[in-house]
Amino acid sequence: MVKINENFLSMEKNYLFIDIAKKVKAFTEAHPDKPLIRMGIGDVTLPLAPVVVEAIKKAADEMGVKETFRGYEDSGAGYDFLREAIADYYKSFGVSLNIADIRVNDGAKSDCGNITDIFGDGNTVLVTDPAYPVYVDSNVMAGRKIIYADSNEANGFAAMPDSSVHADIIYLCSPNNPTGSVYTKEQLAAWVDYALINEAVIIFDSAYEAFISDASLPRSIYAVPGAKKCAIEMCSLSKTAGFTGTRCGYTVIPEELTVKASDGSDVSLAQIWGRRQGSKFNGVSYPIQRGAEAVFTPEGQRQTREAIDYYRKNARLMADTLTELGINFTGGINSPYVWLKCPNNMGSWEFFDYLLDNIQVVGTPGEGFGKNGAGWFRLTAFNTYENTEEAMNRLKKLLG
Ligand code: PLP
Repeated sequence: MVKINENFLSMEKNYLFIDIAKKVKAFTEAHPDKPLIRMGIGDVTLPLAPVVVEAIKKAADEMGVKETFRGYEDSGAGYDFLREAIADYYKSFGVSLNIADIRVNDGAKSDCGNITDIFGDGNTVLVTDPAYPVYVDSNVMAGRKIIYADSNEANGFAAMPDSSVHADIIYLCSPNNPTGSVYTKEQLAAWVDYALINEAVIIFDSAYEAFISDASLPRSIYAVPGAKKCAIEMCSLSKTAGFTGTRCGYTVIPEELTVKASDGSDVSLAQIWGRRQGSKFNGVSYPIQRGAEAVFTPEGQRQTREAIDYYRKNARLMADTLTELGINFTGGINSPYVWLKCPNNMGSWEFFDYLLDNIQVVGTPGEGFGKNGAGWFRLTAFNTYENTEEAMNRLKKLLG
């Protein structure tokens, strides 16, 4: 008889956003006359930059011509033209990467989950709480022991390592989803030190690095000395360049990152990750990689920055509104997320219902991201400016 992976039985039946969608659907059916303003799901709304669309079209044309048609990409790690463009992009904020250390993928979510394949099940996994759900879910599926580092009001939702606790794999995300907090270089250095002492590996998710406007904040963990010996970095064009429906990202595993196998030999994580990908992943389509390459051209950067600035303006408006209302929050400055404390000691699902029922604004209950999210709430800056403005006006009327 077939046996299922029973680790799935210990998981919540639905992914957080499915529960939210159900509540929203029920409300819309009951009140078709009350249009909603959606500030819940972290999906972008602005179209791809024209330079990206042009590059994808041109590459699609090449695929229709015998001489320029391409089948499987040889390495499966991404075409050199894109990996070189990514390495140049990193140079622009002072980080030097070997092209061989970069592997292109179909977005950060797959790699955040799939990277667990290269680690043994006996590892202790440390996740900051609250966190993007994939880190916990993919390790629960593998039956691994998970411990948490608390991100809370007291530490500005920037969990720090506890030297009395041992972990083998550490997930960090900065700028953080859901809290919008950003680690300083000193804070990241403390995590790198902890990882080196514990012979642990950090999986650093920098999916929102492009939202950092403060030049003193690190956009890559490799801005910290020693990080190449202990950290894997995952990034994505989803939020940087509107690729949520186009799908392209990349993972960096430096050649310096080696771990000891049980026989004492040194194993390169990049090598075994390449082996894993070679067996289970056949690469990203040529037209999409050309589109991604276009993001990193000067014109691509100018055009994609426009979209980021637009979202930033929304985030700023949300932050200013909360300041005006005297509501405590993090994020909103170097992040598209605003993470706010539910007023009047409301629970986060209670506040979700309160906003839905009274002002038809949809956000995300903090509890869905971990226990420290209880009593907190996430709003995203990815709507239009007009809708964001309208939502903030409604919020002021409701809570002012
Ligand atoms: N990492 C974080 C922190 C995210 O919030 C998201 C998406 O919302 C992702 C990774 C995954 O992005 P994608 O798979 O679209 O690249």
